[in-house]
Amino acid sequence: MRSINVQFHDGLCCGFGNCAGVCPEVFALDYVTNRVKLVPDAPMAVYTTQIAQAVSECPTQAIVMFQSSDGDRQSHA
Ligand code: SF4
Repeated sequence: MRSINVQFHDGLCCGFGNCAGVCPEVFALDYVTNRVKLVPDAPMAVYTTQIAQAVSECPTQAIVMFQSSDGDRQSHA
């Protein structure tokens, strides 16, 4: 079974919201910190394509997505 892990590079998020626009099921803006956060318990494996699009559309390359399947690990940044 495939597992998805999403992390953010500290300090790179500028709160533009592109990721939340592409995949609001996974990304949400924190209006206190003006940075993005993950939606709790988001079913990331369901939204792999949208997360990859969010990674590619982040202007500051703040998002990193890890995919693992059968022990393999890949990153897309
Ligand atoms: S697209 Fe990038 S900079 Fe914009 S809110 Fe998302 S992580 Fe932050």
